Amino acid sequence: MIPALLPTYARAPLSFVKGEGAWLIEADGRRFLDLGAGIAVNALGHAHPPLVKALTDQANALWHTSNLYQIPQQQALAETLIDLSFADTVFFTNSGTEACELAVKMARKYFFEKGQPERTDILTFSGSFHGRSSAGIAAAGSEKMTKGFGPLLPGFVHLDFADHDALNAAINDRVAAILIEPVQGEGGIRPVPDQCLKGLRDLCDEHGILLIFDEVQCGVARTGKLFAHEWAGVSPDIMMVAKGIGGGFPIGAVLATEEAASGMVLGTHGSTYGGNPLGCAVGRAVLDEVADPAFLDAVNRKAGMFRQKLEGLIAEHPEVFESVRGSGLMLGIKCKAANTDIVSAGYDALVLTVPAADNVIRLLPPLNISEDEIAEAISRLDAAATAVKAA
Ligand SMILES: *Cc1c(COP(=O)(O)O)cnc(C)c1O
Repeated sequence: MIPALLPTYARAPLSFVKGEGAWLIEADGRRFLDLGAGIAVNALGHAHPPLVKALTDQANALWHTSNLYQIPQQQALAETLIDLSFADTVFFTNSGTEACELAVKMARKYFFEKGQPERTDILTFSGSFHGRSSAGIAAAGSEKMTKGFGPLLPGFVHLDFADHDALNAAINDRVAAILIEPVQGEGGIRPVPDQCLKGLRDLCDEHGILLIFDEVQCGVARTGKLFAHEWAGVSPDIMMVAKGIGGGFPIGAVLATEEAASGMVLGTHGSTYGGNPLGCAVGRAVLDEVADPAFLDAVNRKAGMFRQKLEGLIAEHPEVFESVRGSGLMLGIKCKAANTDIVSAGYDALVLTVPAADNVIRLLPPLNISEDEIAEAISRLDAAATAVKAA
């Protein structure tokens, strides 16, 4: 008999009743150190007081009105994002994959309005992840995500990650956009080198192609800059954001330049819930904290400390771990033992990590994790590695 919940997830046998900062607590009182943060969502940890206040104040005032009317919280969050980024305009969604849908529509509409309706192709890269909508799975293109779901949305050209020759060969006058995560998340915490992001920008400028960055996982201070692409000193034409910006409340966004957004005129897109007052009130409270240069400095300091301690941990468990990689507090440990075994051993050691492709475990702690908690994380990961080795 089919379970009450459609059985698409492999859930761990854990269930939490309460969250406090970097900690998740089960009904029996067991406290887990949360290095997953809801997959890079709880950017400020659980039950962060300013976010709880922003949400409850807004909940007491007004939940939903629809985009038939002005939504001041949405206007304010858009203006904040514009002040803090390359963008001139913002559309709010409820999730990352909805942001992918709009990014693809926006790029195609741009060329349609420019009188180049044949320019519809989007170049994407192996190991990428853009969510589970029809555009999202077609963009990523992996068999795991697409098999059985055909016919797939056409117009995506899949290239090997880091294959420059294939990229250059794929440039032609049907290409509308290049879509890339500056740091791949699900693909195994694989940062795109700064010089490659610069090269992509140059290539796009040279051929009049739009550059789309998917910062759903790596954005919103995760890498120690508000947006990951800032490290490379280049900006996209269109950017997808979600996960961290809501701190746990579902909200996503597409940010774009005026030029890239120019085809998206009255009536061309919409969303019932997108940009609702609750999500936008929380989003502003998140940005108030994470966009502060002092907060970003602290993320970078903690990231340096975490990484250094992880190097030591890896050196002590060469049979289990291989290397550390990533950017800021978006860290991955490439494993020798099976990553899922290490994640499971972490449950027994009361530490939560997230598996990713390429036999990696992801460490995506709340960005306000303390130095003591990082030290505690290392000792619990050490216990997990010791248990895996003994098994
Ligand atoms: C999680 C993720 C998405 C999809 O976001 P959802 O909110 O699950 O739809 C898209 N792109 C990247 C890079 C992600 O990590």
